[in-house]
Amino acid sequence: MNEDEYKERLLEFYPDRGHDAAMRLAECAMGLGGETGEAVDLLKKHLIYGRPLEREALIAEMGDVLNYLTKLSHEIGVDMAEIRERNINKLWARTQKQPGYFGGK
Ligand SMILES: [Mg+2]
Repeated sequence: MNEDEYKERLLEFYPDRGHDAAMRLAECAMGLGGETGEAVDLLKKHLIYGRPLEREALIAEMGDVLNYLTKLSHEIGVDMAEIRERNINKLWARTQKQPGYFGGK
């Protein structure tokens, strides 16, 4: 499924609740926070409590994060491709200013 297909299908799951732009942004923000927390909790159970990594559950939560991130990109009118490109450019610029920023050799 490509990005456009995903976004089109995703938005079908968001009924018009009559919310204004601020409330739609709030829904995205709360959704991102909640779903990120669910992913972090799975990592906590694995890394701190020593339980097996629940990989399938983690993938599902990553999808939930993607859901709200995609919805947020829609709300502010930016493509996920542009977000990806800007992020890579930012990271590249950071490593040019601060070699070794991300560690490694
Ligand atoms: Mg979830």
